[in-house]
Amino acid sequence: MSLRLLLFLTSFFSLLWADAHILVYHRFGDNRYPTTNTSLKELKREFEYLKRHNYQVVPLSWVVEKLHNGEKVPNNWVVITIDDGFKSFLKALPLFKKYNYPFTLLISTKPTNLRYPDFLTWRDLKRVSKFGEIGFHSHSHPHLLNLSKKEIIKDTKTGLELFKKHLGFFPKYYAYPYGEYNLEVEKILKEFNFTAILNQDRGAVGDNPFRLNRLAMVGKSNLKAALRVNHLKANWIKPQRYFKILKEVEVEIDPKYKKAFLYVTGYGWRRVKVRNGKVKVKLGYKLKRARTRVILKVKNSKISTKLIVRSKRWN
Ligand SMILES: [Zn+2]
Repeated sequence: MSLRLLLFLTSFFSLLWADAHILVYHRFGDNRYPTTNTSLKELKREFEYLKRHNYQVVPLSWVVEKLHNGEKVPNNWVVITIDDGFKSFLKALPLFKKYNYPFTLLISTKPTNLRYPDFLTWRDLKRVSKFGEIGFHSHSHPHLLNLSKKEIIKDTKTGLELFKKHLGFFPKYYAYPYGEYNLEVEKILKEFNFTAILNQDRGAVGDNPFRLNRLAMVGKSNLKAALRVNHLKANWIKPQRYFKILKEVEVEIDPKYKKAFLYVTGYGWRRVKVRNGKVKVKLGYKLKRARTRVILKVKNSKISTKLIVRSKRWN
């Protein structure tokens, strides 16, 4: 190993990162949509679990501030986010109040502005904002990777103006619709000066406020297992984008790891070798889903996720 590479790896892997966790929910007590719903009974069980196991539920802003200041984020911190701004949140609000748990709603402005019956109104949001934070989840909830740069900017600007008009402030956080993004999309959204951007990649908080991983909670989620997931600092070289065939995976991790496990959506886990801090494996997998997750895992449930999304425009 060259000295330069060694120096790079040493500085790359000695940075602080956080094993705190951000949960993402969608609907509450609404069994019409089992794939996005959490019953109130289940939510109460999860809140009780957090309380009993000494997790501290904190506002998203606390985590974001620590990351921006380069300070250590306590591992027992948990942030609760709720995407889309569904009306059913009002059913869960009393439980949040009872446990005194802060939350961040990430809302799409279009359904709210058009008063779709399933969504919180501007008035609801004003009332709710006394108890939690409200962030942004795009205007029209598009698949961002199917839009041009111009269209992404337009969707974002439209939503931000509505936000300011109805709630009196610009939101600080952006969450990708469907959790879909790539490096180009990330770059476009970073120009709007959000203090944090949230995805839906499985993982702990990590060290980058513009790439915050979240754990999806739906139905009877295994909260205990989810909270056991730790952050693996990794430099993904391949894949960077979606191809019909996933030929190869190449990732740099801390050279202290000698073996790892690799997951690809539709193919499950396999064991892979780590040589001098590098995982390099030929796969030739025909991808089965438009949204494919590639996950690298080492001991102590440390994981890093790379999401690749099929798109007409960016591939
Ligand atoms: Zn959404």
